[in-house]
Amino acid sequence: MKQYDVIILGAGAAGLMCAATAAQRGRRVLVLERANKIGKKILMSGGGRCNYTNYSVEPENYISSNPHFCKSALSRYTQWDFIGLVEKHAINTEERKHGQLFCVDSAKDILAMLVAECEEVGVEIQSHCEIRAVQELKNSEPDNLNHYLVAVDGFDGVAKLQNIRCSSLVVATGALSIPSLGGSGFGYEIATQFGLSLTERRAGLVPLMFSSSVKAICERLSGLALEVEVSCNGQSFTENMLFTHRGISGPVILQISNYWYPGDTIEIDLLPTLNAVEWLLEAKQQQGKTRLNSLLNNQISKKFVAELQKLWWPDVATDPLAQFSDQHLISIGEKLNRWCLKPSGSEGYRTAEVTLGGVDTDGISSKTMEAKSQKGLYFIGEVLDVSGHLGGFNFQWAWSSGYTAGSFA
Ligand SMILES: Cc1cc2nc3c(=O)[nH]c(=O)nc-3n(C[C@H](O)[C@H](O)[C@H](O)COP(=O)(O)OP(=O)(O)OC[C@H]3O[C@@H](n4cnc5c(N)ncnc54)[C@H](O)[C@@H]3O)c2cc1C
Repeated sequence: MKQYDVIILGAGAAGLMCAATAAQRGRRVLVLERANKIGKKILMSGGGRCNYTNYSVEPENYISSNPHFCKSALSRYTQWDFIGLVEKHAINTEERKHGQLFCVDSAKDILAMLVAECEEVGVEIQSHCEIRAVQELKNSEPDNLNHYLVAVDGFDGVAKLQNIRCSSLVVATGALSIPSLGGSGFGYEIATQFGLSLTERRAGLVPLMFSSSVKAICERLSGLALEVEVSCNGQSFTENMLFTHRGISGPVILQISNYWYPGDTIEIDLLPTLNAVEWLLEAKQQQGKTRLNSLLNNQISKKFVAELQKLWWPDVATDPLAQFSDQHLISIGEKLNRWCLKPSGSEGYRTAEVTLGGVDTDGISSKTMEAKSQKGLYFIGEVLDVSGHLGGFNFQWAWSSGYTAGSFA
């Protein structure tokens, strides 16, 4: 039977980082990947340019039932450590807004870097194999460590079930988002098998949809983007919003989707730099002959203003501002700064960039990523109940948690 010190399930961001780190310590490491190719999400990320980290990474950029859990790993392996690695491999990079770091050429550079780091220290990576079962061999060895058996199909290209043995098993199988890129619930099954609890899971960093008349508006405006501030459940983000055929998307909507629950209303400030009520009342005094549409066209695209007009001032569309009552302008101004919409749902795991929730961090050591009740079993990356904001924070969590587990596994 083949034997390794560490078997890592999943050759994504967290699994590859963990593999290189553990092998650098002299551990014999095998990574098992179900898909035909490794690191698919890395390749697709950031529009093919991989937003691999952020200049400013804080625990506040993460959502988890235990907001303190991520702190230890994030400080053990920081964004500066990963930036150093990227520099060592001479990858061409650029900073975009909000401190987001991207590859200039291709996300392939990040994957190639991780593979090179793994190869240098002799990590074995096996893709296209199916893990059928994981079993614990409790205290069967004189070293008093737990050992695990992984039953795998397709290992070494052999289509028959083989058992491989290890003393540390790392679950890095990611989460439910985008099944075609490897999203799976396998990590949750292993957690449950070993008595760990799960927190509720839902799609995160995901576009929001509407039924009814709002959907029709979104369809008509599809492709149009504008900078807005969006708020929900005490959180606010200012960034671009994009209308789509199904509803709304763009960075600001992906960010707020992490805080939105079905049934919640979101508030959109269409003029985040203006007090719209004061602005409209002043314009009525100073530019009374101007039409409201013309005034708004300086701030918001013509097409969108035409839609708002149908909603909020359909009967007085051609009237000059002077003929609007103050009350009507106040009401329109309030809605411009606080357009309340109730999404019918999110696009779900099909397009979500992350899964919120996951393996409950209460059962995991934040210092090592090892399960508290199960020696030798580790969970890293997105499978855990730790999700980042948009902006490179999810990869940073994969690097930090992967490095942490790799330092102990
Ligand atoms: C389209 C898209 C764009 C994104 N862009 C960014 C970005 O620019 N910046 C950012 O920070 N984050 C981004 N993310 C989020 C980021 O990709 C994830 O948070 C990150 O990949 C999680 O790393 P992971 O290693 O935990 O999981 P993954 O990268 O998903 O890796 C898990 C691996 O496990 C494998 N696996 C699953 N089940 C099994 C099984 N049963 N047996 C064996 N292997 C299995 C999968 O095939 C996969 O290779 C993006 C996500 C998506 C979907």
